[in-house]
Amino acid sequence: MNALKAEIVRVIQNEGPLPVSRYMALALGHPRHGYYMTRDPFGREGDFTTAPEISQMFGELLGLWAAHLWQAMGAPSRFRLVELGPGRGTLMADVLRATRIVPGFHGALSVHLVETSPVLRARQAETLSGAGAVWHDTVVSVLDGPAIVLANEFLDALPLDQFVMTAEGWCERLVGLGEDGELAFGLAPAGDGAKARAPVGTVLEQPSAALDVVAGIARHLSREGGGAAFIDYGPIRSGFGDTLQAMRRHAFVDPLAEPGEADLTVHVDFERMGQAGLRAGAALHGPATQRDFLLALGLAQRAQILSRSADAAQRKAIFEAFDRLIEPGEAGMGDLFKVMALSHPALPPLPGFDLHRVPEQV
Ligand code: SAH
Repeated sequence: MNALKAEIVRVIQNEGPLPVSRYMALALGHPRHGYYMTRDPFGREGDFTTAPEISQMFGELLGLWAAHLWQAMGAPSRFRLVELGPGRGTLMADVLRATRIVPGFHGALSVHLVETSPVLRARQAETLSGAGAVWHDTVVSVLDGPAIVLANEFLDALPLDQFVMTAEGWCERLVGLGEDGELAFGLAPAGDGAKARAPVGTVLEQPSAALDVVAGIARHLSREGGGAAFIDYGPIRSGFGDTLQAMRRHAFVDPLAEPGEADLTVHVDFERMGQAGLRAGAALHGPATQRDFLLALGLAQRAQILSRSADAAQRKAIFEAFDRLIEPGEAGMGDLFKVMALSHPALPPLPGFDLHRVPEQV
C-alpha cells in the first residue's frame, strides 16, 4: 500500500468514509503525495497527453483567438492573460509566440498562472522564462481587472461528489474501507434535497468546485471585461452516469487502487457549466466540438503553412497531430473534447462558435 493510500485509510478510520470530492482532492492535491504535486505526468513517457503537447498549432490558434477577443474588448492597454492549470507551460508559450505579430497585444498583457503543483510551476517557469509570469494558488486571487482566461483540461481535475439513486432514495457515494481493509466505494443515505427522482442505479454528479470556478470567472468578466475559453472532455448536454476515471501510462486503471499514482478526472458537464456562466451574467459562446472550433479558427491552413517549411518527417508529424486534434470517435479528440467560452455580455460572437447566448437580465 503506498504512503498516500495508508494515510487515506487512517483518515477513514478516524473520520468515517469520505465524499468522492475529498478523495479526489487528496489523490490529486495532497501536499506531499498528491498526483500533481509529485510529477510531470505528460507525454508519451507519462500518463496522458494533452492537445498543446500534441501540436504547437493548438496554442497558436488559441493565441490568435485571444488576440481577436482583446480587440473586441476595445484593445485595453492593460489586461491579465490568465491560464488555469498550465501543465508544462506549452500552451502559454505557443500563445505568446503566435501573438508577437499583433500590435499592442504584448505591451498590454501580463501573464498570470493558477497552479498548485510545485513540480509543474518549476516546469512552467522554465518554459516561460522571460514572460514575467506571476503564479497564483487560486482562481479567486488571479482575477483583477480585464482578463482573458484559458483553461485546457483544468475543470476535469476539480473534485466532484456523486449520488446514486437506490430503492430507498438518493444515496451519496463514499470512499470507505472494504472487509479486506482496502479502499472501497459504499453508499450512505443523502436526503433527496432538490434532486429529481430517477430510476434506481442512476448516478448523479455534483461538480461544485468546477461550477464555482466557472461562475466566479463569469461574474468577474461581466463586471471587469474580457473572456474565457474552457476546453475539456465531456458532453454538450447534461446526463447521468459515473464519469470518474483514473489513467496511468495511457491506460485506464481502478480509481481506488493507487491514489496519487494515477491521474483522476471526471467528464465536464458543459450544459451546467454554460448555465452557471449565463446565470453569473456572462455571455456564452458554444460549446462547440474541438474539431469545429479548431477548423473554424483555421487549423487546416495553419497545418499547410507549417508543412511548407518542414521536412518529410516533420510533415508527417504535423498531419498526424492535425488528425489527432480533430478526428472523431476513439481515434482522436475531435468530438470528445468541447470548447466553451464566456465573455462580457456586450461582446460580439467570438470566432470558432456558432452559438452565442446572452444572459436574460442584460
Ligand atoms: N493545461 C495543461 C495541463 C492539464 S493537467 C495541458 O493542457 O497540458 C491539469 C493541470 O491543472 C495541471 O497543471 C495541474 O497541476 C493543475 N491543477 C489541478 N488541480 C488544480 C487546482 N485545484 N488548482 C490549480 N491547478 C490545478
